[in-house]
Amino acid sequence: MDALSISRNAASNEGRGRGAEHLAPDGAGQNFYAIDRGLRDLLPLYLAADDFQKLEPHFDRLGELAGGRLDELARMADKHPPVLHPRDRFGRDEDWIDYHSSYREMENIAFGDFQFHAMSHRAGALGMERPLPAVAKYALQYLFVQAEFGLMCPISVTDTSIHLIRKFADKALQDYLLPKMLSGDVATMWKGTQFMTERAGGSDVGAIETTARFEDGEWRLYGDKWFCSHADADVALMLARPDGAAEGTKGLALFALPRRLKNGRRNAYRIVRLKDKLGTRSMASGEILLDGAVAYLVGDIDAGLKQMMEQVNLSRLSHGVRAAAMMRRCLNEAMVCARGRRAFGHTIIDYALLRRQLLKIAMPVEQSLSMFLFAASAMDRAHAGAADAANILRILTPLLKFRACRDNITVATGAMEVRGGNGYIEEWVNARLVRDAHIGVLWEGTSNINALDIITRAVGKSGAHRALGAALAKLLDEASAIPAAFRNRLHGKIRQAFDFAERVAAAPAQEAHARAAASSLYHSTSAALMCWEASRPGVDARRALLARLVLDQRLSARNPLEPEAFDCEGGAAELIFAERKVSLPEIAGLL
Ligand SMILES: Cc1cc2nc3c(=O)[nH]c(=O)nc-3n(C[C@H](O)[C@H](O)[C@H](O)COP(=O)(O)OP(=O)(O)OC[C@H]3O[C@@H](n4cnc5c(N)ncnc54)[C@H](O)[C@@H]3O)c2cc1C
Repeated sequence: MDALSISRNAASNEGRGRGAEHLAPDGAGQNFYAIDRGLRDLLPLYLAADDFQKLEPHFDRLGELAGGRLDELARMADKHPPVLHPRDRFGRDEDWIDYHSSYREMENIAFGDFQFHAMSHRAGALGMERPLPAVAKYALQYLFVQAEFGLMCPISVTDTSIHLIRKFADKALQDYLLPKMLSGDVATMWKGTQFMTERAGGSDVGAIETTARFEDGEWRLYGDKWFCSHADADVALMLARPDGAAEGTKGLALFALPRRLKNGRRNAYRIVRLKDKLGTRSMASGEILLDGAVAYLVGDIDAGLKQMMEQVNLSRLSHGVRAAAMMRRCLNEAMVCARGRRAFGHTIIDYALLRRQLLKIAMPVEQSLSMFLFAASAMDRAHAGAADAANILRILTPLLKFRACRDNITVATGAMEVRGGNGYIEEWVNARLVRDAHIGVLWEGTSNINALDIITRAVGKSGAHRALGAALAKLLDEASAIPAAFRNRLHGKIRQAFDFAERVAAAPAQEAHARAAASSLYHSTSAALMCWEASRPGVDARRALLARLVLDQRLSARNPLEPEAFDCEGGAAELIFAERKVSLPEIAGLL
């Protein structure tokens, strides 16, 4: 190319690029830990001091990766989804899935560098001399998912499969599977998954048609699994009905299905095709045909579903965390847009109407953060033997899954709108966040199924809400730095929400209110947690303003035709703290 054409080319490039400065940047390049005031404030509250001290550099490193390299890889992996090859080049039915190099690099970060799958089962991950507490594991998931959502499914389901094998499998099976599954060597480790759903039933698990036959001294599975995420995992946990077993959920047994047999050959099942999905496009979900595949019975043959529910509940908690993470990414994106885009001569964050939208995005983000950290700390306390903690975790798990996953959809759409038209364009992360948000209300139980679990089982059968109510009352008593009038209002709302849930649980005719009752439990619980957190040393006291917003926006009747001075702007919405006066406009500083 001669000098003239180079200079012509440069000029035309300059021409093409002109105007780029008008567009707001995106969150790429940020450290998602460093900019997350809520997370940084709360982790020292929910983690033991020495754990926090040891782990903080890893939170920081992952925050930087999530805004940097991981973010780049996630963009590429979304655009280059996995491809199924049904046969090998010799025509053998040895299906295999081809992943883009960006996905493989993310696997190295997740399974090799951070060892997410093993970190709460054994020492050694992140240099820790013992397994990580649940709070730390879920905080790390939260940071990772701000960049990449799809891969968190294989990561989490490997973690939860290990849990089931450790808890229910006999010693021989544990000895066979666990060393491979707990390995940190990405090239040779065995990853796990969970296949339950069939065409006959996703919610209605009792309708499962896959059968198990005991043939020549081993179990063999026959059937057709309709939704199989992480389709090419090395070990799949699944439910099947042994020949002659009862109908419905009672007759289901739990099996571990290896992809390869002990002799190295492929097991007798095939991935028939991959799903063409709205979201989670980096990760392979497929359909599986089982044709006499060898499987190992896990635990008690009569307790398949009961055992599998442990995995479902762990996945539900992780799904809640993933929704919280994606919402945080949406908020980060909305904030850089709001600060970087100008319209009508002003930066758009200067407009009260836009700030109100930002607050409506921020509130569910912070609610979900408090809820998942409190749930994870209940898990840690339950492991340490605290009597009330198992019940608290029991009810918080479906609450978080139900509400945070629903909120994620609204938040993703809200953040897209803040970016304007570019938010709809696939070059920007918002479009992916909108697509990915929707799966949360489907897998591991739809909103209805989770709401019914909360109300009919956790409240109605187990009475788990009572432990939660007692814990919240104690926290509110501890929050003496917050004005008593506000705490009393919170006490009142909690009582009302818990009464509502009990009424719905007690009367089958009230079932149609299960979602509303579950939402009230979620909102009152999260408001109480944020109030308590705000009262703790080192936590931004303005968190109580978010608690106040939850009460006003989610738990109080409002007249749409006579709105009160909006909480975000009006002087009426001031909270007087013991040491200082804070008004809601200050909340901008929280974001
Ligand atoms: C991308 C993707 C990946 C997936 N990966 C996996 C996987 O790896 N493993 C796996 O096992 N499954 C997986 N699933 C399946 C998922 O868990 C199910 O789709 C989900 O549980 C819903 O089941 P279903 O599709 O059969 O819907 P249905 O159960 O038919 O539900 C249809 C509607 O009926 C409602 N409904 C059902 N029963 C009731 C009731 N009693 N009261 C009120 N409403 C009710 C539901 O809320 C829903 O709105 C995946 C799904 C998707 C989309």
